[in-house]
Amino acid sequence: MIEMYEKLGIRKSVYDFGEKIEKSLENRFKTIDKMAEYNQLKVLSAMQENKVSEACFNYTSGYGYNDTGRETIEKVYASIFNTEDALVRPSIACGTHALSIALNGVLRPGDELLSPAGKPYDTLEEVIGIRQSTGSLAEYGITYKQVDLTKDNEFDYEAIKKSITPKTKMATIQRSKGYQTRPSFSIEKIADLIKFLKEITPDIIIMVDNCYGEFVEKLEPSDVGADLVVGSLIKNPGGGLAPIGGYIAGKKDLIERCAFRLSSPGLGKEVGASLSVMKEFYQGLFLAPTVVAAALKSAIFSANIYESLGFKCFPDKDEERTDIIQSVVLGSKLGVTSFCEGIQYAAPVDSYVTPVPWDMPGYDSEVIMAAGAFVSGSSIELSADAPIREPFAVYFQGGLTYPHGKFGILRSLEQLIRNGVLKEEDLN
Ligand SMILES: *Cc1c(COP(=O)(O)O)cnc(C)c1O
Repeated sequence: MIEMYEKLGIRKSVYDFGEKIEKSLENRFKTIDKMAEYNQLKVLSAMQENKVSEACFNYTSGYGYNDTGRETIEKVYASIFNTEDALVRPSIACGTHALSIALNGVLRPGDELLSPAGKPYDTLEEVIGIRQSTGSLAEYGITYKQVDLTKDNEFDYEAIKKSITPKTKMATIQRSKGYQTRPSFSIEKIADLIKFLKEITPDIIIMVDNCYGEFVEKLEPSDVGADLVVGSLIKNPGGGLAPIGGYIAGKKDLIERCAFRLSSPGLGKEVGASLSVMKEFYQGLFLAPTVVAAALKSAIFSANIYESLGFKCFPDKDEERTDIIQSVVLGSKLGVTSFCEGIQYAAPVDSYVTPVPWDMPGYDSEVIMAAGAFVSGSSIELSADAPIREPFAVYFQGGLTYPHGKFGILRSLEQLIRNGVLKEEDLN
């Protein structure tokens, strides 16, 4: 084993350090395997119940009327998320697109959108119009209110209550932390917030940005009252195989509004050929629970590695998880770039290139991204990214298999030592 690691650039002291950390995690990994077992059965049951057949994998083209593969995958998602309906489409380009469709589908001029749990994901700033942008909700006269978390990262229930007016049509809650250092919200916490909001104003439409959260817990936000859950297929539910796509699951009338926005008023869900992606949508979804488990183990392994070395980690090494994101505060630009180099050098694809920070569309500071993925930009595959700004935290996620996630983390540690951010003696 050690020879294989050495061949791939990992020195013995780094390997030994990893073995010691891994040993301490046996029980936690068992719990994660149990969660995967539960969610595997949930997915299997949805596939059986909705009679997934070989015909679902056929290529379709043109308008895509009566596209069996598409219609069935949408039923399967609705079963899994315990919702009335779902949109699952290759024509949804990414998570931001899915969220934008949901917001634009539901909201109308004069409505107000509330974010009761702090700042939404960076790319939504332009969708909403927090940062001025062409075609934002703000341009259509849809206003936005945000209630920040308290100092202890709790929901500010008093302020939330005060912020709700008759104009408040919709609330958006982001499960995963995104590029923030707050904790991600567990299903239990999201449930409390939804209950609170609906008690004040029963008609409020609650959307949860579920990116990175799927299959981490037994329940999904839609099991605890969310009217819409939204995510990306090149994250968890695509299982690493979906080559593109996003999903929106929720109440039937809301899904129809979203479909009218996605395609066209009148056409809605009825059009949109699925081309040849359906087999990957199904197979990826089928693998997703165990892939998510691999990513979770990798995240926990990395938190335990880096916290032992004195770096602050969010979530910390012992915390319960509700998403697959691990952030490690490396505290310097060299720290984050070295970490990302290590992840890149651990990839099966493009391992020979070196990532550098760039001005990525939709983000307000330079971002460095490391990914050598089979699906370009896929972040259920081993990947890391970091905005180049204080506190110089890297966001690490994915790993289609745990052995690969583990190797990536060890390679990042090796790189921190090679670049002088850490010394080999620090491992003792
Ligand atoms: C990734 C992500 C998004 C946006 O998804 P893209 O596919 O990158 O457009 C939105 N919200 C959260 C929490 C995310 O993690």
